[in-house]
Amino acid sequence: MDIKRNYEYLLSDLSSLKGVGLKTANLLKKKKINNIFDLLWKIPKSYTDRSLSSKINDLKIDEVQTITIIPRKYFFPRVRNLPNRVLCEDDTGEIDCVFFNSYEGYIKKILPIGKEVTISGKIKYFRNKYQLTNPKYISEDSSLIKRKHNTYSLTEGISEKVYNKIILQIIQNLPEIDEWHSENILKKFNHIGWNESIKKLHEPDNVGKFKENFYQRLAYDEIFSTFLVNSEIRKKIKRIKKIKKKFDTKKQNEIISKLDFLLTDDQNKTLNEINKDLCSDNKMFRLLQGDVGSGKTIVSLISAFNTINSNFQVAVMAPTEILARQHFLLAKKIFPEKIKLELLSGKSTYKEKKKISDKLLKKEIDIIFGTHALFQKKIEFNRLGLIIIDEQHKFGVNQRKKLSDKAGKDCDVLLMTATPIPRTLTMTIYGDMDLSIIREKPKFRKPVKTYSKIENKIDDVIKFVKNEIKLGNQIFWVCPLIEESKKIDHASAIKKSEYLKKLFPNQVYLLHGKTTIEEKEKILNKFLKNEFKILVSTTIIEVGIDFPNANVIIIENANKFGLSQLHQLRGRVGRGNKESSCILMFKSNLSDNAKKRINILKDSNDGFKISEEDMKLRGFGDILGFKQSGIKSFKLADPIHNHDLFILAEKEIKRIENEKEDISKFKTLVKLYDRADIINDIA
Ligand code: ADP
Ligand code: MG
Repeated sequence: MDIKRNYEYLLSDLSSLKGVGLKTANLLKKKKINNIFDLLWKIPKSYTDRSLSSKINDLKIDEVQTITIIPRKYFFPRVRNLPNRVLCEDDTGEIDCVFFNSYEGYIKKILPIGKEVTISGKIKYFRNKYQLTNPKYISEDSSLIKRKHNTYSLTEGISEKVYNKIILQIIQNLPEIDEWHSENILKKFNHIGWNESIKKLHEPDNVGKFKENFYQRLAYDEIFSTFLVNSEIRKKIKRIKKIKKKFDTKKQNEIISKLDFLLTDDQNKTLNEINKDLCSDNKMFRLLQGDVGSGKTIVSLISAFNTINSNFQVAVMAPTEILARQHFLLAKKIFPEKIKLELLSGKSTYKEKKKISDKLLKKEIDIIFGTHALFQKKIEFNRLGLIIIDEQHKFGVNQRKKLSDKAGKDCDVLLMTATPIPRTLTMTIYGDMDLSIIREKPKFRKPVKTYSKIENKIDDVIKFVKNEIKLGNQIFWVCPLIEESKKIDHASAIKKSEYLKKLFPNQVYLLHGKTTIEEKEKILNKFLKNEFKILVSTTIIEVGIDFPNANVIIIENANKFGLSQLHQLRGRVGRGNKESSCILMFKSNLSDNAKKRINILKDSNDGFKISEEDMKLRGFGDILGFKQSGIKSFKLADPIHNHDLFILAEKEIKRIENEKEDISKFKTLVKLYDRADIINDIA
């Protein structure tokens, strides 16, 4: 075929392929293969060598081989369970072709006596003779035989033959595409083009050659296109002009000086970054990232204070009501009295809500706290200048984009997350935002001591707990979380709380998946007020909430959690000045690998480092929050093995941003790699 096709060919429907009917197309669609481009990533997992073996006496046993033979004699025993057999030969020896469940007519047709034919299959040796069972790919004309056939993982109900056929068809029709990368980048991949790379990707000999230029280039294309789209979103938001905020930092410093601690360097640094954004005439879209307990709240509240002093209103949203209330109370404590605060609760009556709503519109409220639902409802502000969203790691790029659009042009946006992620993933996941990172934890904070215990040593744990209670401390007890079976989780948590209630009468409360929201809030508030000592729970204890008096967390069946998750859980304690501990319980002795993982946790309190290690051990798909973030996974690129490509792409994006390079040449790339759904009008 000599039609020069453009890239649109690759985005066309599967049905435009020869040999793909409705049935095959639907099977592929189930596998999220919707167009021709998607099929390019159906990569052979290995290949079968069907090149002609020389002669019968050279055959290798237990290998799939192809030979040209002459059938000599049929043996059709007509006895049940005995296979039909055809004796064949070439000029070096004899071979038996054995057929199970094949009709005589069929056998006679494909192996006609006296005629030369080419067959292939796995060679066996049986009773001093070569044997080939149910020979395949039979052709009288050996020149028609393709030397090597790709093999694919076949879970879709589509045969290897079909895959070979349609992918070959695509490869033969690959459009010539103008190069999108700069000379400098291409140099790194020895100038291999996209088109050639795709061809190489599908060559059977190249299976598993991850280090070769063709593979690296394609992985880079994927990473780069993701970063580019993120960068475009970021630039687009930044281009939005807003009214500058003007405030007196003296007032800010007054508040800071009244805190009962000094801000850490990183808190000061990130606060300055945010302040700079507030005072600029470009809209802010910033993520404040910091490990659990690194002190993000205070930073966000001070920026809220500055916004209010610029004569704007602020909305603070948290994932749960109890956390919203905690932020509200903290603000009430540190802000001067004249600032008008309000908490919008799910429990507020319609009348109360209406009142709050009216007040917001009249600018009689400076700052409002609530859950994420606050934003969904139709609440109007008089002059909203900043939205703060706490613990938002479950938002994907698209959701964030919508949020920023909805916030309105004069409204800055500050998101916060306590999910440290490996450096290579930052641009992938958060590249659409400006980033402020708090790395260091407040000084004098004691690291949480982490221990592991076998379940049958529970008596030791109980003893430990008794002692902690005597000292006036509180305990979190996290029961196994086994996704597949919520019922079992439930039952085991109830059992455990019954057991603990006997040992600690009136000191144990239980939270599980079926606890109502009101009940949950009640229990958490009681715990916060130190009205009981042990909180047993199945679900992960609410993120973000500060329980300064809780200093022990016991996690059962700890191997069910990833390292980052364990670190998050552990972060529930150790926020005050007390010594705190985390006890990880296991059902049986730990395997070497499990020990390795637990040691990482014991040795480090640095969420960034832990997430890095976690990724190495479990792959990046499992990192906390990543799955929910809605981000597409890469087809070839891998943040662990292609670390250098991620860094390279990041550098290149920065260069393009700095040099304000025209990015229209990347249009095809973005369209092909389907990142255009995120922004419609790149370039
Ligand atoms: P996170 O970053 O997880 O949201 P928080 O903002 O809830 O953390 O802060 C955790 C705890 O650390 C709070 O009790 C807070 O008062 C305290 N804290 C914050 N900053 C400092 C600091 N610079 N020095 C000492 N304690 C601090
Ligand atoms: Mg927090």
